[in-house]
Amino acid sequence: KHTLDIQKIRAQFPVLHQEVNGKPLIYFDNAATNQKPKRVIDALVKYYEHDNANIHRGAHALAARATEAFENTRVSVQKFINANEPEEIIFTKGTSESINLVASSWGRKFLNPGDEVLISTLEHHSNIVPWQMICEERGAELKVMPINEAGEIIIEALDELITEKTKMVAFNHASNSLGTINPVKYIIDKAHAVGAKVLVDGAQASSHLTVDVQALNADFYAFSAHKMYGPTGLGVLYGKRDILEKTPPYQGGGEMIKEVSFDKTTYNDIPYKFEAGTPDIANVIAFNEAILFINELGKENIAAYENELLAYATDKIAQIEGVRLIGTAKEKVSVLSFEVEGIHHFDLGMWLDAKGVAVRTGHHCTQPLMDHYCIEGTVRASFSVYNTVEEIDAFIEALKSTISKFKK
Ligand code: PMP
Repeated sequence: KHTLDIQKIRAQFPVLHQEVNGKPLIYFDNAATNQKPKRVIDALVKYYEHDNANIHRGAHALAARATEAFENTRVSVQKFINANEPEEIIFTKGTSESINLVASSWGRKFLNPGDEVLISTLEHHSNIVPWQMICEERGAELKVMPINEAGEIIIEALDELITEKTKMVAFNHASNSLGTINPVKYIIDKAHAVGAKVLVDGAQASSHLTVDVQALNADFYAFSAHKMYGPTGLGVLYGKRDILEKTPPYQGGGEMIKEVSFDKTTYNDIPYKFEAGTPDIANVIAFNEAILFINELGKENIAAYENELLAYATDKIAQIEGVRLIGTAKEKVSVLSFEVEGIHHFDLGMWLDAKGVAVRTGHHCTQPLMDHYCIEGTVRASFSVYNTVEEIDAFIEALKSTISKFKK
C-alpha cells in the first residue's frame, strides 16, 4: 500500500493542467516519455540564468559551480542504482546511445567470428539493431530468447541458448510494449556461468523498479532520463570498472584524452574516456531534481501505486467486449497493451485523442515482437505516479464510446 498524496504530486506537473480538444488532458503515454515536475524545469532555467559555463577546465566561478552540479548528478545516479563508484556512471544521449556505445566499442574488441550475442523477443529496436550491426561486422551470430503467449521469456529455453559461444546477453529489465518484468538476476547468473557479459536495457525499469546493479551483478545497465521525470536527450550507461577500462573509447574529441600529439594520443580515465565533447550540462544538472523527486516519493510507493492503477485498468478493460490484451505476464510494470477487434489501433488512438486521452499506437519500436503475435501494432496506455483512477475511468468510457461508434 502506498502513502502518496496524488493530488499534491499532480500539482507539481504544469503540463498536466491543460485541455486537449476541449477535454482535460489524460496523459497515458508515459512509457514513451513521462512528464517533468516543475523542479526539473526550474533547474534548467536556473542553470542557464545563473551558472551557464563549460565544465571541468574553467578557472572561474561559474565553471566551478557548473562542474560541481554536473558531478553531483553523477553521484546521485551512482546511489540511485547502487553502483560501486561514480566513475562507473557515463552520461550519454539516452538508452539507445548507451547500447550503441557498448555494441560498437566493447563489441568491436571482444566479439569474434563464431561468437554469439543473445537478445530476447521482447527487445526494443535499440537493443536489436546495434547488435545486428556489430554481429555483421565481426562475423558473430545473433540469437533470440523465445517468449510464451503471455509475453514472458521462456527460461527453460536458456539452457540450450546460453553456451560457451555466448559472449553477450542483452535484454530489457521491463518490456516497453507489454510491460513484462524479466527475471534479470536469473538470466545474468546463467550468462555469467558461461563467462558471457550482460547488458540490461533499463529504460522501462528505472522509474518503476528498484535497481541495484551490484545485487543484480549486471555488467552494463542502460537507461534514459526522459522516462524518469527527467530531461530529454540524456541517458546513462553503467558499466563495471574493470570492463569499462578494457573497453576502447566510443568517440574521439575533447575531454576523453589525457595527452594528444600527432603521433599518439593517450586516453582519459573512466568515465571521461567515454564522454567526448561538451556534454549535456544543463540536462545533467536538471536530472538530479528528477532523481530527488523519485527518491522523495520512494520507489516502493511509486511501484505500489502504479500496480494499483494497472490492476484497476486491466480489470476494467478486460470487461469490454472485443478487447484483446497483448502481454499478460504475471510481473508487469504499468503498461497496458491491447487491440480491439475490427478497429485499427491508429484509428482508436485518434478517437481517444479527440477525447483528451493520449495513448501510443503502433509497433512501439518492437516489430519482431509484434510479428510474434501476428499483429501490426497495439494501443498502449502506460501509467505514471501522477495518473489517477478517475482518469482510467474516463479512458474506459472514451474507449467504450469509440468502440460503439465503430460498431454502428
Ligand atoms: N529500450 C526500451 C525498453 C525503451 O522503452 C526505449 C524507449 N522507448 C528505448 C530502449 C530507447 O530509449 P531512448 O529512445 O531514450 O534512447
